[in-house]
Amino acid sequence: MTVLAYGTPAADAPLSQMEITRRAPGPHDVQIDILFCGICHSDLHQARSEWAGTLYPCVPGHEIVGRVAAVGVHVGSHKVGDLVGVGCMVDSCQHCADCDEGLENYCDGMVGTYNGPTQDAPGHTLGGYSQQVVVHERYVLKVSHPEEQLAAVAPLLCAGITTYSPLRHWQAGPGKKVGVVGIGGLGHMGLKLAHAMGAHVVAFTTSESKRADALALGADEVVVSRNPEEMAAHAKSFDFILNTVAAPHDLDPFLGLLKRDGTMTLVGAPASPHPSPNVFGFITKRRSLAGSMIGGIPETQEMLDFCAEHGITSDIEMIRAEQIETAYERMLKGDVKYRFVMDIATMGQ
Ligand code: NAP
Ligand code: ZN
Repeated sequence: MTVLAYGTPAADAPLSQMEITRRAPGPHDVQIDILFCGICHSDLHQARSEWAGTLYPCVPGHEIVGRVAAVGVHVGSHKVGDLVGVGCMVDSCQHCADCDEGLENYCDGMVGTYNGPTQDAPGHTLGGYSQQVVVHERYVLKVSHPEEQLAAVAPLLCAGITTYSPLRHWQAGPGKKVGVVGIGGLGHMGLKLAHAMGAHVVAFTTSESKRADALALGADEVVVSRNPEEMAAHAKSFDFILNTVAAPHDLDPFLGLLKRDGTMTLVGAPASPHPSPNVFGFITKRRSLAGSMIGGIPETQEMLDFCAEHGITSDIEMIRAEQIETAYERMLKGDVKYRFVMDIATMGQ
């Protein structure tokens, strides 16, 4: 079936409307009419080939929510009319140790929602800036938030799970002091989730203007990271720091804020490397630097259910499809509060 999408034919070309084809649903497939798609900084990195290896045409978008339009004959978990979500992956090998543990995100055969290998035309996956998507049922999540919150649920499918998973893995909760660095799409979800988990939460921002917002989003304290005195007041005090920054920066000032055995986990994926951290920042306090990538399917469902139970959604600004380039430029300036979401109904209007 042919549907409308927003994508780009080249790294230096703006996104524009195009037609793409979606496969007819197979026995295990769910066909979804997409209603909203969040705009992740990864979409911009991919569309502009900042990570190299982008296949064109590129249709980004991996924060998808919509309604089930059809299901294959063997689909048992979803039915026509259900509200569902699709995040950053649409397939994996389904038989390795990672898949068996529900950690499909770490499977070597994981297929991204865009730019992943597929039999479907044009030979790589095309993402959620489109009217419809067809996905194997295993990678389709159930949405139980009220329908009127659907647009604000979309960003949970990437920004939500990418912050929820490391917060859980490194046991954010009561009695723990947790930092969140970079208050953008991921970071603002990190504040909400760490707060809901019961941790003492400190927001680190380069933007003085986000100070009040960060408190409202769930931070107990806010530090403007460009201010050395504010940073020094938190020396050697954190159990865990989640770093979401989308650009290379000096990690040493943040490592110095970890207490003995503390960990800083990087989820931001800048186009070029951070300057190498100083070894003494690690050995003097047995500190760790780690990384984390999205989350597995069972944990993504757990996160969605946790958010529905706690009334958590993303703070969003809705855009029409043709405003995508302006949204990217604003995202690069840190000028988004706190996630753009594309209203797919505006496509083709
Ligand atoms: P975003 O909305 O643009 O937020 C990034 C934030 O980082 C900005 O709002 C800004 O916050 C801070 N920042 C940006 N440039 C900075 C600089 N030069 N120095 C210091 N701080 C800076 O991006 P996002 O969608 O949250 O994504 C963040 C990163 O995570 C991207 O690289 C994305 O590709 C990556 N990502 C990774 C995963 C994963 O699985 N690991 C999943 C999704 C996204 P302040 O204004 O508060 O300083
Ligand atoms: Zn993302």
